[in-house]
Amino acid sequence: MINQTLILIKPDGLKKSLTGNILTRLSETKLDIVAAKIVQVSRELAKEHYAHMKEKPFFEELIKYIMGHYHKKKVMALVYWGEDAISKVREICGATNPEEADMVSIRGQYGRITTKGVYENVIHASTDAKEAEREIKLWFEPDELIVDIYPTKTAKRDKKVLVWA
Ligand code: UDP
Ligand code: MG
Repeated sequence: MINQTLILIKPDGLKKSLTGNILTRLSETKLDIVAAKIVQVSRELAKEHYAHMKEKPFFEELIKYIMGHYHKKKVMALVYWGEDAISKVREICGATNPEEADMVSIRGQYGRITTKGVYENVIHASTDAKEAEREIKLWFEPDELIVDIYPTKTAKRDKKVLVWA
C-alpha cells in the first residue's frame, strides 16, 4: 500500500554530522522524498509533536531534546512517500531504545541513552497512517509537499509575511 511518513533527523543527528549517513540509509528503501526542510523547533511545536508523551516523567527532557537544548537548535523534517513507506522506514530506524535496536539499524548504530535517561535516537519516524497524517500536517503546509496526499482547500489568511527586500 502506498503511504507517507514524517521523518525528523533530530538535533543529535545533526550535531553528530549524521545527515548524510541517515539519508543514505533511508535511500535503501527506494522511497521518494516529497518534502524537506530545516526547522527550529518551538516549545509549542515540540509539545504538540510529543503530545502523546505528556504524562511521562521524562516529558520535559524530551521537549528540550527535540528543541535542541543539548545539541543544535534545529531538526531536518522530511516526508517520504511510496510503497509501505511507514513500515519500511520504521524497520531501518530500529527500536525506540537504542540499546535494544538492531545494531545495524539507524538507532542501533547511532543512538545513545543519556545520563538523564532520554533515548537520544537521532531519528523520528511515524508509526502508523493516523500518526503520519497528524505529524505531516503539523510540520508541513500543503504547498511544501510536491504530491497531493491529503485533501486541501483554499483559505484566506490575513497576516503579514516576510518577503525578500
Ligand atoms: N523516549 C525516551 N524514553 C522512553 C520512551 C521514549 O526517551 O522510555 C523518547 C525517544 O526519544 C523516543 C520519543 O521519546 O523516540 C518518542 O517515544 P515513542 O514511544 O513515540 O517512540 P518512537 O515512536 O520515537 O520509536
Ligand atoms: Mg512514536
